Amino acid sequence: PDAPHPSSGARVLAVANQKGGVGKTTTVASLGAALAQRGRHVLLVDLDPQASLTFSLGIDPEELDVSVREVLLGEKEASDAIVVTDEAVHLLPSTIELAEAEETLATRTGREQRLRVALEPVAGDYDWIIIDCPPSLGVLTAAALTAASDLLIPLQCETLAHRGVGQLLDTVHDVRTFTNPTLRILGVLPTAYDGRTKHARAVLEAITSSYGLAVVEPAIPRTVRFAEAPAYGQSILRTAASHRGAQAYRDVADTLLAS
Ligand code: ADP
Ligand code: MG
Repeated sequence: PDAPHPSSGARVLAVANQKGGVGKTTTVASLGAALAQRGRHVLLVDLDPQASLTFSLGIDPEELDVSVREVLLGEKEASDAIVVTDEAVHLLPSTIELAEAEETLATRTGREQRLRVALEPVAGDYDWIIIDCPPSLGVLTAAALTAASDLLIPLQCETLAHRGVGQLLDTVHDVRTFTNPTLRILGVLPTAYDGRTKHARAVLEAITSSYGLAVVEPAIPRTVRFAEAPAYGQSILRTAASHRGAQAYRDVADTLLAS
């Protein structure tokens, strides 16, 4: 059985890296679909005002009356906002209005705790809750790391990829000190990885050894199939189920289940 988060019942996985375009949203959608295919009950949380995860699961944020914004502001319950997608995963969706709510939240008491507290009443319904973080280290990412049992860091192994990792780990240190002492870093997940190039292997080795981070395996290969999938409102696990990119995410899901 999956080891439950002590306070909630579900494992809560934050997928974070303040660099944009590293594969956070793709990872959340694909792992969610893979875990659902393994029979797990999965809730995905879109915490990015760009709402890419919401879009990529075939939901138009403009047509939503309630989203994660109202939940964080304390106006609605999580259960009022959660929608069912056709990949068998549930979604707590985002909209562009979350951007302005983030500024409001910065002045509100309990801001880092709001997501954790909002998820508590629904956490018993799920085996896994996976949070897609925005490309910044602001209050939304702090709230995600406070709600999380585990952190996964998607990383593209290019020359400057290490620059943000130290800052992200500083944030993790603060979160462990002030809001969530038991947050566990699962490690980095290489995305768009070409293991045939010495360069990618060297960058991965440099980052993991200098920061003492584990590599979550297998690495996700670079393939154009990932860019195509959101246009269909489905993850690569549906649009190209037998592709090696889809298989890599199924294998990472199995790694998570064993972790
Ligand atoms: P983030 O959420 O970190 O900004 P995304 O998941 O949105 O990153 O990915 C950024 C872009 O890279 C998207 O166009 C996505 O389709 C593409 N992408 C993600 N993973 C891969 C991959 N393994 N190979 C090729 N392209 C990828
Ligand atoms: Mg994203």
